[in-house]
Amino acid sequence: MNEQSIAITRRGVERIEQGFTWIYRSDLLEASPGVPEGAIVRVVDGRGWFKGRAFYSTESQIALRLLTREDIPCDRDFFAKRLDAAIDLRRRAFPGETVYRLVHADADLLSGVVIDRYGEVIVVQLLTQGADALRDLLVELLRERFPEARAIVERSDAKVRHLEGLTPIKRVLFGEAPGAIEFCEGEVSQRIDPMEGQKTGGFLDQRENHLLARHYASGEGLDCFSYTGGFAFQLARHGCSHVTAVEISQSAAALIKEGAERNGLFNLTVETANAFDFLKARSLTGARYDTIVLDPPSFAKSKASLDSALRGYKEINLRALQLIRPGGHLISASCSFHVDEQRFEEMLRSAACDARRSIQIIERRGAGRDHPVLLGMRETRYLKCFFLRVL
Ligand code: SAH
Repeated sequence: MNEQSIAITRRGVERIEQGFTWIYRSDLLEASPGVPEGAIVRVVDGRGWFKGRAFYSTESQIALRLLTREDIPCDRDFFAKRLDAAIDLRRRAFPGETVYRLVHADADLLSGVVIDRYGEVIVVQLLTQGADALRDLLVELLRERFPEARAIVERSDAKVRHLEGLTPIKRVLFGEAPGAIEFCEGEVSQRIDPMEGQKTGGFLDQRENHLLARHYASGEGLDCFSYTGGFAFQLARHGCSHVTAVEISQSAAALIKEGAERNGLFNLTVETANAFDFLKARSLTGARYDTIVLDPPSFAKSKASLDSALRGYKEINLRALQLIRPGGHLISASCSFHVDEQRFEEMLRSAACDARRSIQIIERRGAGRDHPVLLGMRETRYLKCFFLRVL
């Protein structure tokens, strides 16, 4: 079959030469009727010169997702090498460990493909037409590389698939439905459900930050937006006399309770509540904390919602700063790509100003090393996690 070529504008060429991997539909030089969804196409400039190979999407405004700038075939061997390069990074960064994000989409030059490994259970998210077309190959390659895997699950039920004209999918691709799975985070065990939990079951991007949080834990702790208690368990185990975990989802709150019992953390209380209301109510009662974690879901899903998102972040951070005793710590995160580190820091400064507190930044962190950032592709840097001390 003849490979199809798609010509792009100078601006599109410049972008990919600078390390960006997306080409917007407005940068295609002509409509591309007849190119099938998810096809791998040759990308050329206005003169027909080869610029790379990319996945094509018939629906998304991101028409092309670059796979390579080299003139090599994007065949089985190509994808096997990409997967091996991703695996190699995790094996170096996490020697002997089996829980990590194995493939982080564009950052691993596999746009649209997210693969999380929870030991013997592997969870795949295919978010674009191109990624969707790789399903069978990925399962084959994963089985070859992880013969110990007892299940490969697909959690392609993220909303972004709609932008690609794809329906949500949640199913077992290999093995049997795994049920709940347990893994260690430092000295505590976590239990998540890869079929029913949020995203792929867990939030692996915060794992390294969970572990670091123990160093700052003391006194009365509060973990808002706790999900399965990743931060709360560390605080309760290492340094806080008592911890309150606040989580709005009933099923997640049940997992925190169950996990606290399993880990013998009898100093942990779970509040199934809206964290905004909880923080407000606590500030009215004059409650005080020594260690607070704020790890909300993304408030800015699009650029248009940036202002209201910043107001939301400021509200919870301001309240938290008012509730913290002098010498206490705030661990404050945002996973909104649109709120970049500079905006996040400015929001914190403004909250500190209103709270009349002096704040030290101890660490400006992001997602763990299994979520690398592709230089030239700001979109791959989404998580901010600041460790702060309130003076
Ligand atoms: N801190 C967690 C991940 C948090 S994800 C970890 O490290 O693993 C965000 C969580 O906030 C989700 O579990 C979601 O159910 C919860 N959530 C969303 N809105 C909320 C609200 N208004 N109040 C409390 N929890 C909320």
